[in-house]
Amino acid sequence: MGSCTECGKFTDRRVGNLLLCADCEKRIVLSTLTLTELNAILSAAGEAYRQAVKDRREAYNLREALGKDNARANAEVRSAVEQVELAAERYRKALHDFAAKLARRNE
Ligand SMILES: [Zn+2]
Repeated sequence: MGSCTECGKFTDRRVGNLLLCADCEKRIVLSTLTLTELNAILSAAGEAYRQAVKDRREAYNLREALGKDNARANAEVRSAVEQVELAAERYRKALHDFAAKLARRNE
């Protein structure tokens, strides 16, 4: 526990060997990454999301084939649904960061 190196707000988030609150980390990341880099992150996040959706569809197909009582199929579906949620969250963040950087550039 401690306080953010940048703004002094109470935080226990560690980034490397610095204590940084989420807001400051985001601000720093946004200011150091170029629009091209953020665009690359966005593209990768979009690709990962599409892949997760595809994997989820396959997990549903597997459960369809093996039956709703099949433990392995149910575990695969649960995991695939979780992965889609995580990927969607990363994709949303990447999109938000890209849009924020773009807006700043046009200020
Ligand atoms: Zn801070």
